[in-house]
Amino acid sequence: MQSECPAACSGKKASRQHALSTEQRERISAAAQAVAESAGGGMRCNYCGCVYVARGSQREQLGFLDDGVMGPGWHSRRYP
Ligand SMILES: [Zn+2]
Repeated sequence: MQSECPAACSGKKASRQHALSTEQRERISAAAQAVAESAGGGMRCNYCGCVYVARGSQREQLGFLDDGVMGPGWHSRRYP
């Protein structure tokens, strides 16, 4: 079962959560790509742009891609 956005945004519905496309994966930082790869690929919320990975029931937020507030591109404090 797919879960909701870990950023708990207002459009967090499970139906808005998608696997990162190849094109999106190429636009996040190399550090974030490495984490996504080690977790079997990343996910993105198409409402808030949150990119995250799931390891079992644990989810880690990597950053935001094309965030509505911060603007286009990759935004991450942890994986700049
Ligand atoms: Zn979201």
